[in-house]
Amino acid sequence: MSDGIILCDVAPRDGIQNEKIMLSSAQKLELIRRLAAAGMPWIEVASFASPKWVPQMADAEEVFRAASQIPGIRPIVLVLNDRGYDRAVAAGAHYIRLVVASTDTMNQKNANALPEVTMAAYRPIFERARRDNVELTGTIATSFGCPFEGAVDPDRVLRLAAQFIEAGAAEVDFADTVGMAVPPQIERILMRARKEFPGVRIGIHVHNTRNLGLANAYAAVRAGADVLDASTGGAGGCPFAPKATGNIPMDDLVFMLEGMGIKTGVDLDKLVATSRWFEELLEHPLPAMLPKAGPCWDSPPPLA
Ligand code: ZN
Repeated sequence: MSDGIILCDVAPRDGIQNEKIMLSSAQKLELIRRLAAAGMPWIEVASFASPKWVPQMADAEEVFRAASQIPGIRPIVLVLNDRGYDRAVAAGAHYIRLVVASTDTMNQKNANALPEVTMAAYRPIFERARRDNVELTGTIATSFGCPFEGAVDPDRVLRLAAQFIEAGAAEVDFADTVGMAVPPQIERILMRARKEFPGVRIGIHVHNTRNLGLANAYAAVRAGADVLDASTGGAGGCPFAPKATGNIPMDDLVFMLEGMGIKTGVDLDKLVATSRWFEELLEHPLPAMLPKAGPCWDSPPPLA
């Protein structure tokens, strides 16, 4: 297991949902199996979104059911409404991420509702989750900036986080959905969240649209994040956010963390091999640098 930081690979969900090539269920499962074999502890394996809007996730049931049989991983799924929750629970999901976007425009695009309406609709889902033995977490998309509305008031983001926690969320994740954050924003929100929500896991999900993804992840680690999302190879995009690029590459993130003396439990060679395989599968280059440059040490350099 990790040394204080939990890594969640979102390649099988965020990483592929915007890809033009439709992957088969078998290919998605091969990706998940390879990540599990590399020691990835948490994997976001699918989203139960409408196949009309996210066609790549049309086989979420099948992928989730098979992924949940893989030992050693926490298979996490993403849900946007009660229909998605029903499907996830029927498939046997125990770890479900609910998502709301911080701004009106982004949430309209994501969920066809205002954020307050989405949050109100989540209330009964929290009730049900208690009976269903399901752990719910709350992801706040566009926590650091919105492609349609620009700057986002951190108070608004923290209010949504507080509502998730009040309802019973075990974790809140602040997502830089389109890659607009700079490191001090990450630090500030984490410091406030740590103080305002003691005992709750805090996660950070960043995209590399403006090349600050790893700097933001570094800031998150230094400010005490519990969970870091990334996607192997740096694959990804967002069907609802123009110009958004992939998540930070998990390969490069693991290299950085191990170099910082943080034990991730991930086998970097296996991860890099998975990344190269994944790149061939998608038939286009992925942004991760480590598979190109190669790991440069067997054990991390000593820190002074
Ligand atoms: Zn994302």
